[in-house]
Amino acid sequence: MSFTLAIVGRPNVGKSTLFNRLVGKKLALVDDQPGVTRDLREGDAKLFDMRFTVIDTAGLEDVTDDSLQGRMRRLTERAVDMADICLFLVDGRAGITSTDLVFADILRRKSARVILGVNKAEGKAGDAGALDAWSMGLGEPVRLSAEHGEGMEDLYHILRPLADEFQERAEADAPLVDVDLAEGEADLEGTEADWAPTEKHPLQIAVIGRPNAGKSTLINKILGEDRLLTGPEAGITRDAISLRAQWQGTPIRIFDTAGMRKKAKVTEKLEKLSVADGLRAVRFAEVVVVLLDAEIPFEQQDLRIADFAETEGRAVVVAVNKWDLEGEKQEKLMALKEAFERLLPQLRGAPLVTVSAKTGRGLDRLHDAILRAHAIWNIRVPTARLNTWLGAMTEAHPPPAPGGRRIKLRYMTQVKTRPPGFVVMCSHPEDMPDSYRRYLVNGLRDHFDMPGTPIRVTMRGQG
Ligand code: GDP
Ligand code: GDP
Repeated sequence: MSFTLAIVGRPNVGKSTLFNRLVGKKLALVDDQPGVTRDLREGDAKLFDMRFTVIDTAGLEDVTDDSLQGRMRRLTERAVDMADICLFLVDGRAGITSTDLVFADILRRKSARVILGVNKAEGKAGDAGALDAWSMGLGEPVRLSAEHGEGMEDLYHILRPLADEFQERAEADAPLVDVDLAEGEADLEGTEADWAPTEKHPLQIAVIGRPNAGKSTLINKILGEDRLLTGPEAGITRDAISLRAQWQGTPIRIFDTAGMRKKAKVTEKLEKLSVADGLRAVRFAEVVVVLLDAEIPFEQQDLRIADFAETEGRAVVVAVNKWDLEGEKQEKLMALKEAFERLLPQLRGAPLVTVSAKTGRGLDRLHDAILRAHAIWNIRVPTARLNTWLGAMTEAHPPPAPGGRRIKLRYMTQVKTRPPGFVVMCSHPEDMPDSYRRYLVNGLRDHFDMPGTPIRVTMRGQG
């Protein structure tokens, strides 16, 4: 657990340059791509031994008209809401401008925790700017040169105590995951507020699928703008990034595998690379959207990644894309459902949604399916209800008696969420056949209505 730093400030003060320096890779979209707009970018930053998340609000260089001014302001406000600390950059060479004051005002009204940075302060040229910056009333400015890497130690010394503070707070708040059963029934009744997506903890989504399934098209549609570069541009280099957006009012963070894949210039490497990307995306995600091409559904690669998502304990939603091209929709749907049950029994009941990334049809249903999958992934079943259910299950079908010793199921409780995990206290757990455990898993899934999420059931002996 670490903290999140947002780099804010008017265009051209050097936010991207600093972002790139902190993230340590050439992540930014190159400036010579005309017409590229983008949303908040986010990366894992490293400053000496300190690691944190950094958010960049850059990419609005061409802001001239009023609507874009508004957009810049909204973007900054969102970044401030998401961050623990804001690094407010000004340009030490240009001095404080009226636009800087607009940003200072946003930060003040949001009562954000602010560090004032005077960038482009290499050499003597920054002296005046640093003095000028004092007048903002935001405390002592730290002099930086994002381009030349100067001032990084000063920045470190300012951030370090704040980082430690966040660390302590995180440890104090850390949830108990593995409840000690000896203490009896732990309070597992969560409220929605525990996990509902917020700006600070957006719902993390990855869209995976074979090349050409339509991942970029879908992500673009979700983000509502041409924020990803799709189409024929070859050799666009970009590393793993995630993009933030509000999708029908839900704060989301979407992992951009498509952008990553496009860095492969050699076509034959595409398949291989996209599998590796898919696996990374799965680790990142809370909900994995397996995007299938309606024409070529359930390819080996799709199956492998879907299975991996289950193994990694992610919620899964299957989306069948290019539905606009389908003629016999009903028959096709039946066939798809049948294939799904047969090929991915471990994901029984996971939602299957038909969409057209191109036209946008079905995206509202996809949104709802994702939200529901996320809710199920976070579900908490009260212990009393579990045990009533367990009683009925064992009565209907008693556990086996291998070697003449009947296994007794005593008690059951949910020990974790994301995905839901349960422990059954029983005699001779080592003798419990897997078929009975599956009987319980399937029963849980049906009775408590938990389709599409991996369910873990562990047998444990008492004493
Ligand atoms: P942003 O719009 O705030 O993201 O700004 P950019 O990172 O795109 O930088 C704007 C311009 O300022 C670019 O031409 C950078 O090369 C330049 N720049 C960034 N940091 C520094 C610095 O520390 N010193 C100098 N002299 N120029 C810088
Ligand atoms: P990616 O490789 O998975 O990122 O796939 P792209 O998003 O680049 O899409 C591959 C091709 O499929 C492009 O030519 C898209 O225009 C097309 N495509 C994507 N979604 C749809 C859709 O819903 N309907 C149709 N007809 N074509 C689509």
